[in-house]
Amino acid sequence: MSHCRSCGATLGHSLADLGLSPISNAFLREADLLRGEMYYPLHVQVCTQCWLAQLNDVLDANTHFHDDYVYFSSYSSSWLAHARQYVESMIERFEFGSRSQVVEIASNDGYLLQYFQQAGIPCLGIEPTANTARVAINRGIATHQAFFNLETATELSAKGIKADLLLGNNVLAHVPDLNGFVAAMPLLLASEGVITLEFPHLQQLIANKQFDTIYHEHYSYLSLTALIPVFERAGLRVFDVQQLPTHGGSLRIFACHQKATHLLNRAVNEVLCAEHQAGLLELQTYTDFSVQMQQIKYQLITFLIDARQQGQRVAAYGAAAKGNTLLNYCGIKPDLLAFVVDRNPSKQGRFLPGSRIPVYAPDAIFEQKPDYLLILPWNIQDEIMTEMSAIREWGGQFVCAIPEVKILS
Ligand SMILES: [Zn+2]
Repeated sequence: MSHCRSCGATLGHSLADLGLSPISNAFLREADLLRGEMYYPLHVQVCTQCWLAQLNDVLDANTHFHDDYVYFSSYSSSWLAHARQYVESMIERFEFGSRSQVVEIASNDGYLLQYFQQAGIPCLGIEPTANTARVAINRGIATHQAFFNLETATELSAKGIKADLLLGNNVLAHVPDLNGFVAAMPLLLASEGVITLEFPHLQQLIANKQFDTIYHEHYSYLSLTALIPVFERAGLRVFDVQQLPTHGGSLRIFACHQKATHLLNRAVNEVLCAEHQAGLLELQTYTDFSVQMQQIKYQLITFLIDARQQGQRVAAYGAAAKGNTLLNYCGIKPDLLAFVVDRNPSKQGRFLPGSRIPVYAPDAIFEQKPDYLLILPWNIQDEIMTEMSAIREWGGQFVCAIPEVKILS
């Protein structure tokens, strides 16, 4: 029996049980194909006390964030544009300048902090992964290589660092110790400092059937309803929230010390009401989700088998975690999906975990001319369709699987 990582209540209700799956970022090299792979349960449960949806089996964070970590933020152009817009809006709203201090948790390769740096605002990245931290340091962005926790916050605070802006994009959901992580933030926050955190919104995950955003590194599936008590416990107050289109629908929450003077924006109540209306406080909403997930699985397998039987070739775009969850949940192997392409050179020449589908550079699409290109990262679907529009020259068609299997015109 496992317990809620926020409130400690006993967990007993499923949102999504995806069976066993390998770690989604464990890309294989050719030599690895001779060996087996480790599979772990991938089961999201929901707490009916505080409505935090969460993986109930937690692997050691070091299983995920090792030096071989192949995710570099800078490879998506739409994500860079999002980061730049965020930086501009923060500078304008909170009037940050050369005497301010920005600290980013999980700063990756410095893709976001570079914009603060260009604006002359002192910044510091905190990043646990050595190879991404190295890229950031090489481009001149001060980076402290560590996980963000009580110890790291205490250490940096003792060095005199107090953040006027403490930000974390797509990190909160990836934290095993949610309470400990949030409790460490006040230590590093200036008295009138602002915390902003972005994370995929559970309401969108459910509404748009985004079960492929479930993977082992993603411990919590967050709503504002579930997060407010976590912040209160840490002596923090959520004073604003914005709804964003990123990752299929995200929230950006703004928090500060309980006693700070930031005024409560009515958006907080509006989002809480919307979550209530969407059924996030009813168990039925969560139990219905499993059925919807199965329907997509059957649609996708049927599509791939039909294509195969008609002698058509299907390839995929985007060797991201999402794709691995989808392909492994559906049991898809290279006989049904010949290869996947990705712009990230560190993934090319490797194989997807579990499915063992080879990863090539995007040029392979133009050499092999598949009949269908399945887009796995649906959050950058438009970008991919523009980049790969030349597939139409040989009658190639785009296909998506989420929220339903569909040929895109
Ligand atoms: Zn709970």
